[in-house]
Amino acid sequence: MAEVPFDPSTDQGSQADATRQLERVFQSMPNEIHLFLFSRKDRDDPFAQAIRQVVRAFREMTNKITFREYGLDHELARKWQVTDGPTLLFEPEKYNIRWYGGPLGEEGRTFLELLIYLGLGKSNISEQAREVIGRIDEPRQVKVFVSPTCPYCPQQAVNAIKAAMEKPGQISLELVDIQCRPDLAEQYSAHSVPQTFANDVMIAMGAQTEELFAASLLKLEQQTVFIPETEDELVEADLVIVGGGPAGLTAGIYAARSGLKSAIIERGALGGQVATTPVVENYPGLTSVGGKTLVDIMVTHALEYTTIFPGEEVIDIEVGRPFVVSTSRRKFHTKTILLATGATHKHLGAPGESRLLGRGVSYCSTCDGMLFKGKKVIMVGGGNSAVTEALHLRNIGVDVTLVHRRDKLRAQDFLTRLLFEARIPVLWNTEVREILGEDRVRQVLLFDNQSKETFTLPLDGVFISIGYEPAISLAQKLGLALTEEGYIQKDAHHRTSIDGIYSAGDVEGGYKQIVTAAGQGAEAAMSIFEDVINPYWKREAG
Ligand code: NAP
Repeated sequence: MAEVPFDPSTDQGSQADATRQLERVFQSMPNEIHLFLFSRKDRDDPFAQAIRQVVRAFREMTNKITFREYGLDHELARKWQVTDGPTLLFEPEKYNIRWYGGPLGEEGRTFLELLIYLGLGKSNISEQAREVIGRIDEPRQVKVFVSPTCPYCPQQAVNAIKAAMEKPGQISLELVDIQCRPDLAEQYSAHSVPQTFANDVMIAMGAQTEELFAASLLKLEQQTVFIPETEDELVEADLVIVGGGPAGLTAGIYAARSGLKSAIIERGALGGQVATTPVVENYPGLTSVGGKTLVDIMVTHALEYTTIFPGEEVIDIEVGRPFVVSTSRRKFHTKTILLATGATHKHLGAPGESRLLGRGVSYCSTCDGMLFKGKKVIMVGGGNSAVTEALHLRNIGVDVTLVHRRDKLRAQDFLTRLLFEARIPVLWNTEVREILGEDRVRQVLLFDNQSKETFTLPLDGVFISIGYEPAISLAQKLGLALTEEGYIQKDAHHRTSIDGIYSAGDVEGGYKQIVTAAGQGAEAAMSIFEDVINPYWKREAG
C-alpha cells in the first residue's frame, strides 16, 4: 500500500495519533464513499449496531463517507437484490461488494482497507495478480467466509475485495461472517475460516497471497503455487527440460546454479506421480509429507532458479544447433534438451475399465478417494503404490479390499506390515476379469487363478495401481534408442543416442523413487553443464 501512509496492522502509537493519521489519509482521498445498510426492522442485530457505531466513528474523522440505512422492504433492497439483513453494501452503483456482518474484531482491518481503496478509487492490487484477474472472462460470484476472531481472514477478504474492484462487471463478492450468517456457513459446510468459494466451488481453504487467490479464482480450483505466465513467443535457453516431476525440477535447480539458463515445460500436473501420492515417508529430511505438499516445496524452490511453463505440451522438437522446441504456445531455442517425461499409469485392459473411467474407475486415490467415503471399493495391485493408496483410502473411511494377482506383495515390508496392521482385507491370487455397471461401477467379475473360479463382488469403485509405463512418445518421435524394456537408453552421463539430448527420472527405468529421480535430475544437469562448456560431440568429432 505504497500510497496509503497508514498501516492498520501495526501499532502506530497512541489512539490520537492514529486518528490524526487516518484523518489525513481520508482527506487525501479523491472519492466519496457511499455505504448502504439494510437491516431487519423486527430485531436490532448486534452486527447492525456494530456497523452503525464503527461508521459513526469514521464519519467523525471525515465527511467523505455517506451512510444510509433501509429496511429489507425498501425499493433499493429490491433493486440491489438484498434479501436478508444486516447487509452492508459498498458503492453499489459501481461495485458488487456486500458484507453479511460487520467490522467486528479482526474484521475491522478489512473494513478499513476497503474504505481506503474505495476512497482512492483503486485496489492497489499487485501487477501479477491484476494480469491474472484480467484473464477472467466469465462471471465469478465469490463468497469469503470470515469471523471476527480470525486473524488470517482480513488477508483473504482483502484479496477478494481487490478482485471485485478490478473487474466490477464480472466479479461479485459476498463477505460472510459465519456468526452473522450461520445458515450460509452450514449450507456451504464452511466450518473453518477463511474459506473461499467462487461460483459455489471451494477455491481456497485459509488465506492466500493475492497472486494465488487470483490464480485460484481464474482456474476455479485451489492453487498452492503461483507460477508467473509470460506471453513471450520465443524463449532462448541453454537447457529445455521436458517434464516437471522431481527429476525435471531438480535438474532446473542444478542447471541454473551452474549458470545455465533453463526452462521447464510440463503439460500436466507439476510433480508428476508424486502430486497424487497421498503420503511420502521416504524422502530424506521429511519424515512424512503429503505428495502435493512435497511438490509445492519443490516447485517453489525451482522457481527461485528457473522458469516453468505449466500446461504446455511439447508438440515438436527440431534437432539442430540450436534445437527448436515447439509447444502449444511458443517456441524455445536451446542448446540442449533433457527429457524427464516420467511415466504414466498402466491400465488393466479389462472390459469396462475405460467405459467406466470417472464413474467408479479411478487411477488416483488422492484425487477421488473422498467420493467413496463409507463405500466399498477394491484397490488392484501389489506394489508400493497400491499399498500406500489402499492405506490412504482406509484412513479416509473407505471400505477397501486389496486385490492382487499373486500370493505375495511386491511392496516393501514396511508398507506390507502397515497394510496388515490396518486389517485391510486382501484377495490373493485374484485377477479382475471385468468391471460391471451401466451408469457407474456396480460390481466386478474376479477370477481366482488357483481355484480357477470366477465370482462377482458388488462394490462402488475400482482403484487401479498396477505400475507405470514410461512416457516415451517424444523419445519415439525423435527416434531415440530405447532399452529392451522400452525405457530411454542413456549412458552414465544421461546422454541419449542424439547429441545434446539427455534423460533423467522414471523414463530411464531403474528404481523409480522420488529421491532417485531427483538424483538423476541433478546428475543430468551437471553433465549437461560440462557438455555445454565443452561439447562432447565436438570433442569426439575433433
Ligand atoms: P510396481 O512396483 O511395478 O508394482 C505393480 C504391481 O501391480 C505389482 O504388484 C504387479 O503384480 C501388479 N500388476 C502389474 N500389472 C498388472 C496387471 N495387468 N494386473 C494385475 N496386477 C498387475 O508399481 P508401483 O507400485 O506403481 O510402483 C512404481 C514404482 O514407484 C516402484 O519402483 C515403486 O517402488 C515406486 N514407489 C515407491 C513408493 C514408496 O517408496 N513409498 C510409493 C509408490 C511407488 P506382480 O507383483 O505380480 O508383478
